[in-house]
Amino acid sequence: MSEERSLNFIEEIIENDLNSGKYETLITRFPPEPNGYLHIGHAKAICLNFGLTKKYGGYTNLRFDDTNPVTEKTEYVDSQQADIKWLGFEWKNELYTSDYFDSLYEYAVTLIKKGLAYVDDSTAEEIAELKGTPTEAGKDSPSRSRSIEENLDLFSRMKSGEFPDGTYTLRAKIDMASPNMIMRDPVLYRIKHAEHHRTGNKWCIYPMYDFAHGQSDSIEFITHSICTLEYVAHRELYDWLIEKLEIFPSKQYEFARLNLSYTVMSKRKLLQLVNEGVVSGWDDPRMPTISGLRRRGYTPESIREFCERIGVAKRENLIELSLLEFCVREHLNKTANRVMAVLDPIKLIITNYPEGQNEILIGENNPEAEDKGGTREIPFSNELWIEREDFMEEPAKKWFRLAPGAMVRLKHAYIVKCEDFKKDADGNVTEIYCTYIPESKSGEDTSGINVKGTIHWVSSKHARSAEIRMYDRLFTSECPDAEEGDFKDYLNSNSIEIIKQAYIEPYLANADKDARYQFIRKGYYCLDKDSTPEHLVFNRTVSLKDAWAKANK
Ligand code: ATP
Ligand code: MG
Repeated sequence: MSEERSLNFIEEIIENDLNSGKYETLITRFPPEPNGYLHIGHAKAICLNFGLTKKYGGYTNLRFDDTNPVTEKTEYVDSQQADIKWLGFEWKNELYTSDYFDSLYEYAVTLIKKGLAYVDDSTAEEIAELKGTPTEAGKDSPSRSRSIEENLDLFSRMKSGEFPDGTYTLRAKIDMASPNMIMRDPVLYRIKHAEHHRTGNKWCIYPMYDFAHGQSDSIEFITHSICTLEYVAHRELYDWLIEKLEIFPSKQYEFARLNLSYTVMSKRKLLQLVNEGVVSGWDDPRMPTISGLRRRGYTPESIREFCERIGVAKRENLIELSLLEFCVREHLNKTANRVMAVLDPIKLIITNYPEGQNEILIGENNPEAEDKGGTREIPFSNELWIEREDFMEEPAKKWFRLAPGAMVRLKHAYIVKCEDFKKDADGNVTEIYCTYIPESKSGEDTSGINVKGTIHWVSSKHARSAEIRMYDRLFTSECPDAEEGDFKDYLNSNSIEIIKQAYIEPYLANADKDARYQFIRKGYYCLDKDSTPEHLVFNRTVSLKDAWAKANK
């Protein structure tokens, strides 16, 4: 799909490392914390990590970074796996940081024995207080001078569950005056009497991210450990631990996280939306989660294309949501079958077409597809539904659709001429009366009449009704995270619009649950999981209008 592009900075590093023989095999990992569903930001990290080993050979591990027993669940592990597979990637090994708890414990003991870690009985507040500020050195904790023997004894008792939460921590003994605050004796282990989704009650001490991550990378011989920019300051500690432990020298590289306009992108915040009922669940079609995008009708190809287009940068920026929409629109234009659906119906009666007569017309499914997507049968009769907006009682200039006396082509069918219409007491048009030109049938038109407008329709006798759900952005602010107050103050109260009764071609009664369709002149739609054969429900993935491309010409 994409044109040739130049290497990004990570690819440059990797090509150098492979060419110089520094590594033989590229090994990357994708390390989600199983504390929520994956979102489009994770998709970027997935496409990057898996994409690199696809391009350069080697492999990618899936490692669940499950060091926090309180927030992690098996449901999240399962959904994260399903989402990665759906995006089209395969991991080599399915691994869990919790599988390394024994090794990590031994690493901690090694550090203690080297005089490079100590057990601190300071409270969290005391630790924070002694930490100093970026311009002012910190102060040593009284525990810093504890003997190696005493540290070993206390650490082993922390492990055996002797102490309540918060009473002791294990800290690295580095430099309380370091200009990098993270190097000021970071906490490596904390006590947490909590059941873990995999290790159960075996542990009551858990490693901190900084202690677990680099060491897990090293255990797996990860050559390039790619993470987001927040971890730049952590790199020094990452390298320090690996050096002191004398283990495989994995290296960390940081790239800019994806920020998307009109979206929040932290699992913690998305969980709030779920828990507070703002959305119907993690897979609500308005959510930026991979499962939400999937339910909305996004394709894996379009998400991968989006990640490719935004590229890999070293500086943060805000990507337009409309670029994501542009990518799905492009893919669906090539792959989605065209069908007719009338969302705001008004009746059109053809007065010179015999009542009771039916006719089967043939429609091409997708003029943009290489094989044209085949054809389908479309029933025609004297009573149709058309869009209310395709009729104007007093037509504007350059109006090429229906109006009194005007002619228009019915897609795949005939040219009709509006002869009359009926209104109700409130002045709303209720019925339109037309005559049709029998010689004007699409594909075999001998009428010699040229019309400028073509409109879509469905035969009312044959139509099925369907519920249509249309979505808009979930937030009114371009950057809800940067606004004052709570991000939920910026929710878009009109982010969903439901049409209870639209009319669709009978062909769609057998819509495939994984297929996407273009409702001609309206947008791209797919079946929702709430749909049943008796009550069809469609989601609008994206409208047809190409606002992004226009703005970027
Ligand atoms: P969240 O706050 O949404 O939970 P996280 O970074 O804490 O994000 P993890 O599960 O720890 O989530 O992330 C797994 C991987 O995905 C990490 O390598 C992380 O850098 C990457 N990642 C997370 N969010 C983004 C994003 N917005 N853009 C790019 N990569 C991301
Ligand atoms: Mg995290």
